[in-house]
Amino acid sequence: MQQEWTGEGLIFKVGRFREIDCWVRFFSPTFGLTTAMAFGGSRSRRRFCGCLDALNSVLFKVRFFPAKGCCTLEEATLLRMFPRLRQDAARTGLAANCLSFLQALRITPEEAPVVYALLMETLEVLDQAENVSPVFLQLFRARICFDHGYAPELETCAVCGREQPEQTGKRLTLALDKGRICCARCVPGAGRNLEIGPETQVILGSLSTSRPGQWVLIPMSAATRGEIFQVVDGYVRHHLGLRWSHGRFVAA
Ligand SMILES: [Zn+2]
Repeated sequence: MQQEWTGEGLIFKVGRFREIDCWVRFFSPTFGLTTAMAFGGSRSRRRFCGCLDALNSVLFKVRFFPAKGCCTLEEATLLRMFPRLRQDAARTGLAANCLSFLQALRITPEEAPVVYALLMETLEVLDQAENVSPVFLQLFRARICFDHGYAPELETCAVCGREQPEQTGKRLTLALDKGRICCARCVPGAGRNLEIGPETQVILGSLSTSRPGQWVLIPMSAATRGEIFQVVDGYVRHHLGLRWSHGRFVAA
């Protein structure tokens, strides 16, 4: 039985095979990551409008062949592109890093709509924002991690249960494996623990409800940036089982 689907997606990668054909890996809010063959994809402007390029948002018409476990791209129309992500090598690198992270994660179709919306907003920021600090990518990864059910509990001490409002300005210990904080009076349990300051507590605490357009504007000290790098790297490694190695995310 054949099935057809028409919907939007973002192209992650295009590869050529044979003279005029190509394969297209794209991420859609309906299926997550999909790879489809585009026969004539390198030539047919009538069916593909010359829009089969990485980082283009495209309206796809796809035909599925469930018995064969494959699908073909029938038509594609450009919805939007991100010019700066194409021209500015530094921004291309930041965008590629986001895509690499999502590819390594194996997003399910159930998770795909939320992740897709976040990805599109993130690319919009990378395309438009005047300045983007590398810590922005850490916030993107942290948000994906939190949305996967690993949002840390940053308001009460895991040992004594006392509330730890960030206004007190005290440093806390974050237990990476439990995703819980421990106040200065209590002794944290065994496992990987990281010290965080109030600024980091506020930023991580607001991440689940804020959007990429806000993250890029957050002022933060160098010390906080360092803490966020450590926390997010540790979190992604411990909870999602991934680490960055030689230009891509691999199993930790
Ligand atoms: Zn305590």
